[in-house]
Amino acid sequence: RKVLICAGTGCISSGSPKVTEKFREELSKRGITDIEVYNTGCHGFCEQGPIVIIEPDKTFYCRVEVDDVPEIIEKHLLGGQIVEKVLFHEPQVDKKVEKYTDISFYAKQKRLVLHNCGHINPERIEDYVANGGYEALRKVLTSMSPQEVVDEIKKSGLRGRGGGGFPTGLKWQFTRDAKGDKKYVVCNADEGDPGAFMDRSVLEGDPHAVLEGMAICGYAVGADEGYIYVRAEYPLAIKRLQIAIKQAEEKGYLGENIFGSGFNFRIKIKAGAGAFVCGEETALLTSIEGNRGMPRPRPPFPAVKGLWGKPTNINNVETFANVPLIIKNGADWYASMGTEGSKGTKIFALTGKVNNTGLVEVPMGITMRQIIFDIGGGIKGGRKFKAVQIGGPSGGCLPEELLDLPVDYDSLIKAGAMMGSGGLVVMDETTCMVDVAKFFLRFTQKESCGKCVPCREGTKRMLEILEKITEGKGEPGDLETLEKLAYNIKNSSLCGLGQTAPNPVLSTLRYFRHEYEAHIYDKK
Ligand code: SF4
Repeated sequence: RKVLICAGTGCISSGSPKVTEKFREELSKRGITDIEVYNTGCHGFCEQGPIVIIEPDKTFYCRVEVDDVPEIIEKHLLGGQIVEKVLFHEPQVDKKVEKYTDISFYAKQKRLVLHNCGHINPERIEDYVANGGYEALRKVLTSMSPQEVVDEIKKSGLRGRGGGGFPTGLKWQFTRDAKGDKKYVVCNADEGDPGAFMDRSVLEGDPHAVLEGMAICGYAVGADEGYIYVRAEYPLAIKRLQIAIKQAEEKGYLGENIFGSGFNFRIKIKAGAGAFVCGEETALLTSIEGNRGMPRPRPPFPAVKGLWGKPTNINNVETFANVPLIIKNGADWYASMGTEGSKGTKIFALTGKVNNTGLVEVPMGITMRQIIFDIGGGIKGGRKFKAVQIGGPSGGCLPEELLDLPVDYDSLIKAGAMMGSGGLVVMDETTCMVDVAKFFLRFTQKESCGKCVPCREGTKRMLEILEKITEGKGEPGDLETLEKLAYNIKNSSLCGLGQTAPNPVLSTLRYFRHEYEAHIYDKK
């Protein structure tokens, strides 16, 4: 038997290291040596931490405290009985559930990118390799040409998971076709959306998947060097990446002449200093170069003139983590999941007024209703659903009428939102939608780098109007001014931050205009 204990940031903060220590101590006290206590990455159900899983039984114990440990050992591991009090209580059926495979939060997900998270020890390369890790890299280096790799990624239909949804294969083709003696691969791990922690969990729980995806990309585009730009606020992710890079170099999966193919690839880590704008790819490159992280005009695009002026391919963490799966299982397998224009799965950070909060991976095309009610267990306290904010500060708020909208890149854009990197904040009937718009706009306004006038000044003026409205000082004409400013900012800002900053205001004006009007005319 194995005792798996989550050692992701969420469970660590709720006390999992002490639980691990106690298991080891109590087992050794009893002279038990054939039960392994094993730390894993994030299980995704962070609000239920510390999470302990007993394998092969699949028993899911949650909110485990140090004092529960002797009972789990005596009753479950030695006595074969379940310890009821630390089982998960399923809100949908109002009863306790024993196995994680039977918990709705997990049963209705499709965990592909997250398949190793919560199951392997991210600090042991042997575990990743034993689960088929680095097989995809071996496959491309021993049996595929670089162009064949690019074609496979194109055929899979994979689109960038960082926000924009640009076709990944096409991006790789641009860098591959660019002329240059030196090229780079960059992984954007500067996850800055409020409430989002998808990339952090993947890096903490399965860092080798990202390294393998980057190395495959390096081979395909002709690069021999990679950078991971990860925010300094993610110390555990950085530590696990450092361990993973060192182990991969020692085992020959990174470095010189990988698998005897003549292909060389090294990866370095650059810690970001916490500016939201550095998630924008040109600002990120400027920051790696050692300058203040500010966006630069495009074209030239990074594929042609990127890091230190050299052709550079940038993808985010989740995009790279998809790559080994596609190579191993084939583009057709991948393209069989999802919708016409959005293939595969997407990881979301499900938060807000929902019963089950955490990290969920679902097939593209699933409806918002299925995510919020089937996986998320519905609204907390039996309240009524009001809206969901998708895509963080760049996204939009969708109302109840759109709960059955398929979650894919194109449907979301049409509805005035966007996939973004994957933040999902659920709101109930008590939420004021003008406050929500103000919250997100305040965030982007504060994070605006100030380089261009529409974003720097325009978001400030919009915020002033929103503040006025919520203080009961709104006037007729304010909503029209807000809309006019919003479209001007969207159309004339230099980078994605400014171009998308008005989205929360525009989407709430579109679906919840009556709430703005109530503030202005009823002086609420
Ligand atoms: Fe900076 Fe905003 Fe202009 Fe982007 S849009 S360059 S964040 S001022």
